[in-house]
Amino acid sequence: MRKSLTLSFVLASAAVLFAAASNAPSFDPERIRAHIKYLASDELEGRGMNQKGGDAAAQYLADQFKSYGLKPAGDNGTYFERVPMVGVQTQPDTSFTLVPNSGSPVPLKILDDYVTTNETQTPVADFDAPIVFVGYGITAPEYKWDDYKGVDLKGKVALLYVSEPISDDPTFFKGKTLTYYGRWTYKFEETARHGAVATLIIHRTDLASYGWSVVRNSWGGEKSFLKLDGTPKLEAASWIQQDVARKLVAMGGLDLDKLFQEAQSRDFKPIELPVKLKAHVVSSVKPFDSRNVVALLEGSDAAKKAQAILYTAHYDHFGIDQTKPAGANIYHGAVDNATGCAILLDLARVWASTKPAPPRSILFAAVTAEEQGLLGSEFLGKHVAQLPVQPILDLNYDALAPLGLPEEVEVAGAERTSFYPVVEQTAKDFHLAIRPDARPEAGHYYRSDHFSLGRVGIPAFSITEGMKFQGHDASWGEAQAKDYVDHRYHEPSDQYKPDMDFRGDALMAQFGYVLGQKAANAATIPVWLPGDEFEKAQKELTGGKK
Ligand SMILES: [Zn+2]
Repeated sequence: MRKSLTLSFVLASAAVLFAAASNAPSFDPERIRAHIKYLASDELEGRGMNQKGGDAAAQYLADQFKSYGLKPAGDNGTYFERVPMVGVQTQPDTSFTLVPNSGSPVPLKILDDYVTTNETQTPVADFDAPIVFVGYGITAPEYKWDDYKGVDLKGKVALLYVSEPISDDPTFFKGKTLTYYGRWTYKFEETARHGAVATLIIHRTDLASYGWSVVRNSWGGEKSFLKLDGTPKLEAASWIQQDVARKLVAMGGLDLDKLFQEAQSRDFKPIELPVKLKAHVVSSVKPFDSRNVVALLEGSDAAKKAQAILYTAHYDHFGIDQTKPAGANIYHGAVDNATGCAILLDLARVWASTKPAPPRSILFAAVTAEEQGLLGSEFLGKHVAQLPVQPILDLNYDALAPLGLPEEVEVAGAERTSFYPVVEQTAKDFHLAIRPDARPEAGHYYRSDHFSLGRVGIPAFSITEGMKFQGHDASWGEAQAKDYVDHRYHEPSDQYKPDMDFRGDALMAQFGYVLGQKAANAATIPVWLPGDEFEKAQKELTGGKK
């Protein structure tokens, strides 16, 4: 009911034309508004994964794709790609005890001293294993860096620092810019690859760029994972407070600050401490399925249509929290990420009516479980082989401000690809300045869905507005962004408001359309630039073919 009402409203409204790129079809801010209004409504209950509202959102997206005439690109001729998942919640009877070779054991306090999750998805895990300090726990051949030096961690506990070696040199771990080697997700993945049974990341507010309370809050509740697929996992993926780490290494007669200094050197070697971690990890484990929604516009060139430009946006948000009072318990996620979904849908509509279709295909994926750690896109990336076409470029949309017409665009990560000159020229044609990442040390590139595609070798980045909007200076835009982060980000109050101005969202859709058009027509496919951390993955993915 609601859908047909909003659609008729949309058809009556005039499309807004942009002077910026007159050869590109126009995108309609009012259609975008109608999608957002519906996706962020109470009826959709915050689009929670494994909840009624999330399922309704997925169905809506599939229905829209179908109405535009796009082909299903999911499982068994449907628009849905099943994403098998597991919810894991660490129980309070979990225990960690530090047991020195001599002296008395020291029990740790869960949530105050440490947080942990059993990634192996078993209800109980017990181990009593020696702790090895591995510095940053990084293996990065391109920087001639190996913290492991051949030491086998099989059945052991890795103790390490978050982040990466301190550097101002842009050719060494990209200077101040955080590379993936510095992210906590990498630490768990890499130590598991080295056979570790558990990993303790030492939390330092300055290195992590967030306090212990953030760690505690985000790890205290249920965490979702993709169902096990053979990737090595930890029985206790953990963070510990720096003071606890200090006591721990002191039990072995060592000084944490000195160890940190030693970890800055290429010559660093792992140090086995005379201390064991005795752990009993109890978890509730609940399997469930979620879905990505995938649709295809087939390319017109027989030789090229096996390749596709991929557009992505996550549709999940935090759903409804039944423990909170009605009226204040729906996480509407209007900006995050009904905006991205609405842009994805309008791109799908316009692409579907593009005649003739471009030589390469166009693929659309509304992904699930972004808020749980980019899981839907991770599944999509790990299973690109099961898609009907091979994505060669991913353009992602995540939380675009409804603040009017931007004079800047952000495309962080695009500069790492051979596609960047095209992006620069297109921005110029749109009279948009490219706004550089204001805080490269925070590693934003690794916190949105494009990263899941980037890491499997597909050049990928997000498109969003910068801070400078027409009629305002950049400080106004920054103040709006801060207001959003302080008052609405990941809160029930991220709600649709009639005074939201979606002209910028429509412009970002048009910008992405033009980029997609250029990539779909180009003689060669975009590549990660030589020396990039994802160059190797792309070579593996494409088998060296360009
Ligand atoms: Zn979010």
